[in-house]
Amino acid sequence: MSSPERHSVPLAARWLPLRQRVAATVYLTLLLALLFGVGAILMAQMTRLQADELVRLADASSAVRGFRTNVDRMQFAAFRFVASNHSSAVNQVSRLYAQTRASLVACLTAHCAGASAAGRVESLVAGLDRFYKIFVDAVAQRNVLNAEINQRFTPNLALVRKELPALLQQQTSSGQVGLAKELDRVNLRAIERHLLAVEEATNALLYSANLLPYSSLAIDFECERGHLARLSPSVPAASVAVVRGALEQMESVWGALLQRARGYLFLVNVVMAADAYEMQVVADQLEQQIEAALVNAHRAIDAKLLGFASALILLLLLGSLAVFALGRAMATSVTQQLKLLTRTFNELAAGSRARIHIQSSHNDEIGELAFAAARFRDANAEIHDLLARYQALNEALESKVAERTSALEESNRQLERLAHTDRLTGVLNRRALEQLLADEVKRSQRYGRSFSLMYLDLDHFKQINDRYGHEVGDVVLVRIANEISAMLRAHDRLGRWGGEEFLILCSETTGEDARSLAERIRAQVEQLKLELVGQVTLSIGIASLTPSQTAESLLAKADQAMYQAKSQGRNRCLLAS
Ligand code: GH3
Ligand code: MG
Ligand code: MG
Repeated sequence: MSSPERHSVPLAARWLPLRQRVAATVYLTLLLALLFGVGAILMAQMTRLQADELVRLADASSAVRGFRTNVDRMQFAAFRFVASNHSSAVNQVSRLYAQTRASLVACLTAHCAGASAAGRVESLVAGLDRFYKIFVDAVAQRNVLNAEINQRFTPNLALVRKELPALLQQQTSSGQVGLAKELDRVNLRAIERHLLAVEEATNALLYSANLLPYSSLAIDFECERGHLARLSPSVPAASVAVVRGALEQMESVWGALLQRARGYLFLVNVVMAADAYEMQVVADQLEQQIEAALVNAHRAIDAKLLGFASALILLLLLGSLAVFALGRAMATSVTQQLKLLTRTFNELAAGSRARIHIQSSHNDEIGELAFAAARFRDANAEIHDLLARYQALNEALESKVAERTSALEESNRQLERLAHTDRLTGVLNRRALEQLLADEVKRSQRYGRSFSLMYLDLDHFKQINDRYGHEVGDVVLVRIANEISAMLRAHDRLGRWGGEEFLILCSETTGEDARSLAERIRAQVEQLKLELVGQVTLSIGIASLTPSQTAESLLAKADQAMYQAKSQGRNRCLLAS
């Protein structure tokens, strides 16, 4: 068996069989899809991480904003406490401090602002602690002030307030008149006025943080001392001593209280304000830093997303190109070879015995197909050879059969002729006459045509046999038959009925026409001069077909007419009536 010819083979085709090339293309596509999926997952993960950072930074920003607001609120509350002595303000500051510090520490723990900003957050925590510590100091001083006013100021003030009206009452009710008493009342009322000023200044110090009236109390104390000194001896000395003692007590703490009030107001209004300002500056910087980090984080996300998306698109493009190129190469290698094989099979179908061209290796399915084609071509060639031989044999056989058939037909024709022919005379035999007569009678009756039958019998034929021998008799019979045949028309049929008797079937012929023909025949035979025998005569009976007649009755009628002719003297024709 011949093998198929190999052409230049594409690389992929040399490497792998077709099924493995298809599988490789599918696997490559799957691998690309996998890579793409992994890339997408990485991108989502990266985006999530970046988003976490954004959330952290936003938390930091919110913590710093909350810090700034809370510092303002703490400062205001601290001022409210020292100014108005509201104890709820202390609780508010403590609560705000704890809350703000906790949020800053949480932010620090969570690295919300990033490593670079941690220093600033720590500095804010430290500032906040310092701020609160100062506030606690201020609260302590304020409490001490309150306590001292309560212990050393308010009781003495109450004492003086109780004594003064009693003294005034005493000076008024004694009923004494005079300048001294009048002056005493004036001085006592002046002391009362100054005492009111002291009380108002103290209230201003305690409840509105206004130090001005309090700081000018030195004059009031001086005036009071002067008014007390100017009281007359009529005023009870014990009461004056009580008032003087109380006023001296108040005057002795006045300076210290003023100093203390200045101290805590300085702490709240200056130190805490400075700290708050400093913290606001740091918070500002931190906020800017966080804003910058936020912007950077946004930019980083954008850049990474862009990078990832570009890489994925590039991967997709390159992958699609690779899959397209591989698929196309594979499809081309397959279709080219399939086209080649299609052409080959068409040629094989047309009976070609040319070599089979393939572009594939042995381990390739198309290569196997090509080898199968080659085997098919060889088998096809053998079948073609066998077919050609068979056709030649068949033709020879057919010509022999045709030859034999023609001989057989000829034999059949001869047999047919012999079957219908009288052996001696060559005219129709009795069987043929019977058949023809039956057919002619039927046909003539069906179409209403005329038909006549002649019955011929040689006269005294036995004598010829007896005198000259049977062979001479035979010759006479042949000679007479030939003579009669030569006289007949195309549609008249002559046959030997038996012995020396003949029938003539005359189609389309009336009895009269038949009789006239019979007469011509009789006359022709009569005038013959046969060798040895000399003259021979005939007696002829003629019958014409009537509609109701059968072949047998027509024959019997002609026979009867023939016997009548015999009986009337022979050598004559008689038409049956
Ligand atoms: P008729 O005028 O009355 O017809 O007399 P005939 O002698 O012809 O009559 P018949 O029928 O008695 O004789 C017929 C003879 O024909 C008898 C027979 O020997 C002879 N014959 C019949 N067939 C053949 C034949 O095939 N060859 C020869 N040579 N003679 C035959
Ligand atoms: Mg006879
Ligand atoms: Mg006879």
